[in-house]
Amino acid sequence: MSTAYQQLLDAALLHLEDLKGRGVRFAPVSAATLAKLAQAQPAAPMPPAPDEPAARLVAPARTPAQAPAPAELLPASESAPIASVPPSLDPAAKAEAMKELRERALVCVKCPSLASARQNVVFGVGDIHAQLMFAGEAPGVDEDEQGEPFVGAAGQLLTKIIQTMGLSRERVYIANILKCRPDTPGQKSGNRKPTADEMKTCIPYLHEQIDLIQPKVLVALGGVAIEGLLGKSGITRLRGQWHTYRGIPLMPTFHPSYLLRTMSPADKRSVWEDMLQVMERLEMPITEKQRGFFLARGG
Ligand code: URA
Repeated sequence: MSTAYQQLLDAALLHLEDLKGRGVRFAPVSAATLAKLAQAQPAAPMPPAPDEPAARLVAPARTPAQAPAPAELLPASESAPIASVPPSLDPAAKAEAMKELRERALVCVKCPSLASARQNVVFGVGDIHAQLMFAGEAPGVDEDEQGEPFVGAAGQLLTKIIQTMGLSRERVYIANILKCRPDTPGQKSGNRKPTADEMKTCIPYLHEQIDLIQPKVLVALGGVAIEGLLGKSGITRLRGQWHTYRGIPLMPTFHPSYLLRTMSPADKRSVWEDMLQVMERLEMPITEKQRGFFLARGG
């Protein structure tokens, strides 16, 4: 990276920090400026300092001004071989790296229309040292309002599923492919699916969250999460089978909002069977009662 580029970057970051300190939550950036920033690739990457904690991460720290490299536009399962999964950080370094990542996400304006429509960036919630991580699609109205993933109707069902597994929201980690609610101009309510561009732009944050947390098992909730993490489509065919995301076992399952729509006991049982597989993989104790949930009138 050239010195001039670095100086400009430092100055821009200082300015944004200053604005943030004064309570400013959004900085207007024109589409033309964003496009120029996206072209401004540093000449050569700086070699990481050998003793820096961040040097142990595969992905160099990115700034909001940097466009994702082409490899990042692929699902991480394709863009990065298993061998490149970063070794885990010690807890303090992990917390610091997650804090830094969160701060970057909170000021992200890579999708200008989402950034201007959002009330909150919905980064993620839970234990950053969790063995189990859930990845969903995108925040809805409730999540946008509260700044926390899965707090609306679908979220309450997810919370119930987690509790039925003998866990709690505090003991797992929950995040989405998109950190901003997909905007619905002219509509007061309702959600829409993220576009392919929005997913490509935002998913690097999720990749970095997973890199830091390194859960033992990942659960992809619904077709959009599977598409984003594995680059595969067809939830009905893919669910219930183990897949691998950068060496981490990944279980695709139906999205809770799908269960709310269909109200189908068979679909509920399918999700529960997927969660039983997850519990087995995590070597969690499973009671006979748990095994029987959502069978016949169990549900
Ligand atoms: N649906 C999702 O995929 N994520 C949320 O956070 C809420 C609803």
